[in-house]
Amino acid sequence: LFGLLLLIGFNLTSLHSLDNYDLVNLSINRFKNLTDNEIILKLLDFDIGSEKDDENVIQNDNEDDKRILLNKTQYEEIFKQVETKQYNMVAKSKAKATFVTLARNSELWGLVNSIRSVEDRFNRKFHYDWVFLNDDDFSEEFIETTKSLCSGKVKYGKIPKEQWSYPDFIDIKKADKARSRLKELGVIYGDSESYRHMCRFESGFFWRHPLLDEYDWYWRVEPDIKFYCDIDYDVFKFMEDNNKVYGFTISLMEYQRTIPSLWRATKGFIRQHPQYLHKNNFLKFISDNKGKTYNLCHFWSNFEIASLNFFRSDKYREYFEYLDKTGGFFYERWGDAPIHSIAVSLFEDREKIHHFGDLGYTHDVFTSCPIDKEFRKKQRCSCNPQDDFDWTVGSCTWRYFELNRLKKPEGWQNYK
Ligand code: GDP
Ligand code: MN
Repeated sequence: LFGLLLLIGFNLTSLHSLDNYDLVNLSINRFKNLTDNEIILKLLDFDIGSEKDDENVIQNDNEDDKRILLNKTQYEEIFKQVETKQYNMVAKSKAKATFVTLARNSELWGLVNSIRSVEDRFNRKFHYDWVFLNDDDFSEEFIETTKSLCSGKVKYGKIPKEQWSYPDFIDIKKADKARSRLKELGVIYGDSESYRHMCRFESGFFWRHPLLDEYDWYWRVEPDIKFYCDIDYDVFKFMEDNNKVYGFTISLMEYQRTIPSLWRATKGFIRQHPQYLHKNNFLKFISDNKGKTYNLCHFWSNFEIASLNFFRSDKYREYFEYLDKTGGFFYERWGDAPIHSIAVSLFEDREKIHHFGDLGYTHDVFTSCPIDKEFRKKQRCSCNPQDDFDWTVGSCTWRYFELNRLKKPEGWQNYK
């Protein structure tokens, strides 16, 4: 009963603050002499906070579960649904685009499954290139096998040492201690050094690799993933023609313990560069309280179809530089997924973030499977709709739909 009361109490508070949030637009006239970004900063709670707050964040893990429930009812009440935007799938020429895979030689056979799946469902019709990156030299077996499976040009690159090692400003002893602590706390990859180099590379460096210079778009593919539905249109052209920047398929909540100070660092950066906050940003997707805290929602970056030019922009580069200097990649365990997601949500027009709900996709335990039976038949999908994660409580995708006033598919409530 106490839990229930607490829940209702929380609910009222959140509703109340949401009302205030919508005053942002109405209040603009009150700040006539300020720039748009100054106005946003004034109205948002961009108070930077302290290290002590970060510790509290770690202690309060199970607050998340409560908040997920709250968000659901809160947003259901508030937002009306309108028609889903439709895309006319007529592609003219190819985009400047490539697949990109970071992998170890030891992951070859898991990757073989991924490539087959991408080729069978999509690329045998489009023949886009494929760039493979590794911190080590690729083995002959890796190169021969992947080459025989890809229907476009293939390229193999080695990552420069300085992009896969400790920068000189990192205190290695402190990093060692931090890893032991996260291991004790049972955090996945808590003690892994290579995982941290990987996350830092995927945040700050993959898009700088010279092999990617000639492209505007990339589609990230990892070992052991699978696509379940026929993809009959050119997804890269779709992004280009519709003026999109970032495409995701699964979204979920990050483990708070891996990023206790990431949001504070982000706010520090925005303070310094308020001009980078986009006027039509998607802050509402990543914060429930006008930017006071991060709600942990992020796009799962093992799948991404996105613009390389977004990452090449000054705002993203400077953001990465700023984050990197705090040491959070090594003293904590910052993932590239929350970093990409926060960046695109704050620095880009929210209209430019696209959800690919039509692919059918699996990586590890999470699956996105179109729940519309007719669609599955038409696209010859091979996934079990009961495995779908998109409309369950741990997903942030329903939130994306509601904030964008998109129509959710029939029967989505059954997945709650
Ligand atoms: P998870 O998806 O978060 O469980 O992490 P993964 O182990 O799948 O790693 C993410 C991506 O980075 C995958 O494409 C991996 O193949 C790649 N990766 C991870 N660690 C390494 C590494 O040490 N070297 C190389 N070359 N690739 C790695
Ligand atoms: Mn993976």
